[in-house]
Amino acid sequence: MINFEYIRTSSAKAAVDAKAKNASAAFIAGGTNLVDLMKKGVTAPQRLIDINALPLKDIRSDAKGLSIGALVPNSVAAENNVVVTKYPLLAMALNAGASAQLRNMATVGGNIMQRTRCPYFYDITMPCNKRQPQSGCGALAGYNRMHAIFGASDKCIAVNPSDMCVALAALNATVMVSGVKGEKKIPFADFHRLPGDTPELDNNLQAGDLITSIHIPANRFNKACYLKVRDRLSYAFALVSVAVALEVTDGIIKSASIAMGGVAHKPWRLTEVEKYLIGKTTAVSVFKDAAGIALAGAKTYQHNEFKVKLGKSAIVEALMKATV
Ligand code: SF4
Repeated sequence: MINFEYIRTSSAKAAVDAKAKNASAAFIAGGTNLVDLMKKGVTAPQRLIDINALPLKDIRSDAKGLSIGALVPNSVAAENNVVVTKYPLLAMALNAGASAQLRNMATVGGNIMQRTRCPYFYDITMPCNKRQPQSGCGALAGYNRMHAIFGASDKCIAVNPSDMCVALAALNATVMVSGVKGEKKIPFADFHRLPGDTPELDNNLQAGDLITSIHIPANRFNKACYLKVRDRLSYAFALVSVAVALEVTDGIIKSASIAMGGVAHKPWRLTEVEKYLIGKTTAVSVFKDAAGIALAGAKTYQHNEFKVKLGKSAIVEALMKATV
């Protein structure tokens, strides 16, 4: 048995201070990923800081956008009336994640922090640079069917497992953080990292940093779809997913925001596709050209070549469903 200290905090400052003082400390809220990691011996924090008593459970909206507290359960966010009516892309992505039971426990902040589901990361008998830097990557020459086709490195080809984060990337969210030096805002595109030479780092948080909420700016998107392709209908991670948000007027696309999941170490924004779509009609031929642009730079491994064709089909399908 591995011993650890367990403490509860009731203020963000106390939580940040407690974590900053111990490099091996971890925040715990729903625990739906962290407890698994601890049971399997993938991680062994010396201190668990329970943040469930912090006042981070509000959902607020105004003309500027929507703020969701870090401790709001995924299921509560997915069923919130403002989320459903004004930010349906987020509701669709939340409901595509995990199972109903997990969505009841898992928090929005924890969803952003969840770690890859690469099986070699969870198998402590296998080499994994993310779990143990410089140990190698079991997936590179292993069974890499679920792995990245964009932004990978020769150190790690894992993918981010979150559905919610793909929608947040497409919706240009900002992560609000409390840190040792005060409050800060991290644009969602800058929150998660590509693996490079340091795959052990999933994101750009600093020691002690605590996610307090996410903010989604108000937008004019009037068409949306989150499409997730997986091996079974529920409780499975994405092979590929697509989050589409469009502003369409009189059949012409005025603006587009699109991200893919299951293809990279972070939600993968399709900025070239977004530029291409502006001013185009909602014709299937346009969507097929967009899909070709999206997958042009993909790099595949032995077992995941199928993701290129699947990704193209998913993009076309998501755009069609959004604009039907
Ligand atoms: Fe570890 Fe990344 Fe390689 Fe998976 S892909 S074994 S997480 S280094």
